Amino acid sequence: MTTSMTIDLKPTATPLSDDERAARMTNPGFGRVFTEHMVTIRWSEGRGWHDAQLTPYASLDIDPANMTLHYGQSIFEGLKAYRHADGSIVTFRPEENAKRFQASARRLAMPEIPVELFVEACDALVKQDRAWVPGAEEQSLYLRPFMFATEVGLGVRPSNEFLFMVIASPAGAYFAGGVKPVSVWLSKEYVRAAPGGTGAAKCAGNYAASLVAQAQAAEQGCDQVVWLDANERRWIEEMGGMNLYFVQGSGPGARILTPSLTGSLLPGITRASLLRLAEDRGYAVEEGKISVEDWQAGTADGSITEVFACGTAAVITPVGSVKSTDASWTVGDGGAGPVTMELRKALTDIQTGNAADTHDWLHKI
Ligand code: PMP
Repeated sequence: MTTSMTIDLKPTATPLSDDERAARMTNPGFGRVFTEHMVTIRWSEGRGWHDAQLTPYASLDIDPANMTLHYGQSIFEGLKAYRHADGSIVTFRPEENAKRFQASARRLAMPEIPVELFVEACDALVKQDRAWVPGAEEQSLYLRPFMFATEVGLGVRPSNEFLFMVIASPAGAYFAGGVKPVSVWLSKEYVRAAPGGTGAAKCAGNYAASLVAQAQAAEQGCDQVVWLDANERRWIEEMGGMNLYFVQGSGPGARILTPSLTGSLLPGITRASLLRLAEDRGYAVEEGKISVEDWQAGTADGSITEVFACGTAAVITPVGSVKSTDASWTVGDGGAGPVTMELRKALTDIQTGNAADTHDWLHKI
């Protein structure tokens, strides 16, 4: 099977009117409104990737013995398409999502879709549904590529057929009233990932397993969970859907630290991009280890000035306060710090076309 495949375009015969679409795109929130099309590509043992189609968005017919429902071979990605002032549309580093999707597939014993085909599928959907890409500030079209087992049967083994899909959802501003710091709960009872586990993969089960801790965070009055390492419950790993950054010191001499990719946290594309952008700006950047005690002591003695989380959905979110079973503290003054906001602007300016794309990160549709 070649890596370049023609996607058979079978668009809807009854497209929405401009007014109907505009009504659905008003205050879309996140992940509740979907565009009019979807891409499907099948994989089967012996045949490889085939039957690539763009069709009207529709329900799927699932057999009760579909293997995904029982054993969870299911992975996904998340990336965004942005409309620039000149009307052109771009996605941000889609090849990186494709490579991470391949890594997730390997970990879950699933077939790897070629990078070119993954990107082609995203492009085809955005092209078809380009009217759904919002143009207002902080808005975008969120793309959700995913793949799951489609074999019917209850034997525990890798499925011999899979469905890869892309759907898209217009996303409003994550912070409608301006960037707002989040409060976080340090989860010591539950762990997200253990050495040798699936923490570095973007698989559905990781998120299912995180929900009870997220509920616990909410009970504690916190917005998000911060995950610690499985062995000692001491080292900071990441948040539920974002990686973490710690700023030490201030001004041009500030040092920026993010937990290293130990295998049990997700290698975020925003995280990787910010490492480069922080370096470009002359900050000392380090991937390393930081413990809960380091965080608490560094906040108390003023050496840790800012902490922020980063990911595709919210770009950068300041962390304002921290709570665990035995302590709670406020980071800096509890607001959004200058390094946090500088890096946020640096990244969003590239994504939205307001700054030069010096790293060649934008992919024109
Ligand atoms: N960690 C987890 C667990 C996530 O789900 C995400 C979102 N994909 C991230 C980190 C951030 O990754 P990215 O910057 O690629 O969105």
